[in-house]
Parts: sequence; structure tokens; C-alpha cells
Amino acid sequence: MRLTICRYCGKPIEKRDQLVTASNWLRVRPYHFICFQEVEKESTTIYNSWTPLNGPAGNVTAVIMAGLAGWLLATDSLGMAGSLIGLLALYRVLIRLVALVGFESKVPK
Ligand SMILES: [Zn+2]
Repeated sequence: MRLTICRYCGKPIEKRDQLVTASNWLRVRPYHFICFQEVEKESTTIYNSWTPLNGPAGNVTAVIMAGLAGWLLATDSLGMAGSLIGLLALYRVLIRLVALVGFESKVPK
């Protein structure tokens, strides 16, 4: 099994509770919990700030976004704007799935 390597310190992440998957625009990267705190300190603008995806907050967001995307894309409630917001919400859900399948599933609990 391929190891998930922390993008900050370059060492493998061995336990699920050490793993933070974070997204920045279309990129998803795995970090150690401790290393991610350093990444957060170094990020000064919205353009290089990383949003953590896993953990309760990330999961709740993904569920809400999935509901929002489904509702906005299936109905015509807000017209064009609704479709755009729906796509943005869907993007959040996809990023969450990429993190889950690409990194989290490979790190043992
Ligand atoms: Zn690390």
C-alpha cells in the first residue's frame, strides 16, 4: 500500500487521527495535524490559505453542500444564479470525496 506523505515535512502519515486533508482551490493535500498548524500560520492571504476538509466540520459542510447542490440543480428556484451556486456547492462535495478516496482511505485508523 502506498503511503500518504505529508506535504509539509515529507514524512509518511501513519495514523488517521494525525491526518488533515486540506484544499486550496482545486488542490487537495495531506498534512500531519501538527504540520497543518504551521501551514496555517504561513498562509497570509485567501489565495494561499488551506481549508481543512476532514473532521466533523468538514463532513457537516459536505453534507450541507450536497443538499444545497441537489436542491439548486434539481429545481429552478434561483434561476442562473441558483445553478452557479449549485455548481460551487457540488465542487465542495467533490473535493471532499477526492480527499476521502485519495488520502484518508489510505491512512490506517
Ligand atoms: Zn508532516
